[in-house]
Amino acid sequence: MVPKTHPRYRSLLNRDRIVEAFESGVLAKGGMIAHGRGETFDYLLGETTTPEALNAIKVTAALMVLSKNPVISINGNSVALAKDEFVKLARELNGKIEVNLFYRTTEREQKIKKLFEEDVKSGITLLGIDEADKKIPGIDHLRGKVSESGIYTADVVLVPLEDGDRAEALVKMGKTVIAIDLNPLSRTARKSTISIVDELTRCVPLITDYVVEYKKMDKLQLLKIVENYKNDENLKNTLIHISKRLNSMEI
Ligand code: ATP
Ligand code: MG
Repeated sequence: MVPKTHPRYRSLLNRDRIVEAFESGVLAKGGMIAHGRGETFDYLLGETTTPEALNAIKVTAALMVLSKNPVISINGNSVALAKDEFVKLARELNGKIEVNLFYRTTEREQKIKKLFEEDVKSGITLLGIDEADKKIPGIDHLRGKVSESGIYTADVVLVPLEDGDRAEALVKMGKTVIAIDLNPLSRTARKSTISIVDELTRCVPLITDYVVEYKKMDKLQLLKIVENYKNDENLKNTLIHISKRLNSMEI
């Protein structure tokens, strides 16, 4: 157990969750490496939600409220770190969560299914396992598997830690792809429609808060929030944010 007083409490807690998920078979080895890459970028961001991330979060919330069929895609890392946060967000929407694994094995699928058992009983629709019989064009068999009523027909897909290839293929299918990725330089961040450069345990509760608020607004107001957003500009501003921060740092 990490003591709450430790200056790196949050980060160590997340590491514990990642290790635990690996040991229980929910997370692949590669997931631990992906986490490490994320931690590095979080240092550069100052481990906070930047104004640019908040901008993308608000646009995300508005798009999800406007969406006819929003789907939250989850993988081993997101289950390990923020399962309950994703469930809360899904409950404010249509309840759809789709399992999407980079290293898909039946064992890992079933382990994740078990973790969601109670949530499914209370209204969450967990897709992407038994009924995933559609395919994303151009993506190899196991990584391309998606559900008909989930990602395949979704208009908006929230993809934490997606790989660049799939993000690009989903955009090509005409979907609004929202990535959560701490690395503003990743292919995922550059290929997605909206990129939230933030740590997922920090930003998912914020998305949910805005969804709750935006559900009270009318369509025109929501369209106004979305209207002027430019992802390339927002990513560029994130890089400027990082470089300004590094330039003004005292060691
Ligand atoms: P590319 O997107 O360039 O094709 P990739 O997706 O193959 O690369 P990975 O390292 O596997 O590269 O991707 C994992 C991504 O997830 C990294 O960019 C990392 O910054 C991000 N990441 C890891 N942990 C978190 C987290 N907790 N919250 C948000 N993003 C995270
Ligand atoms: Mg990526």
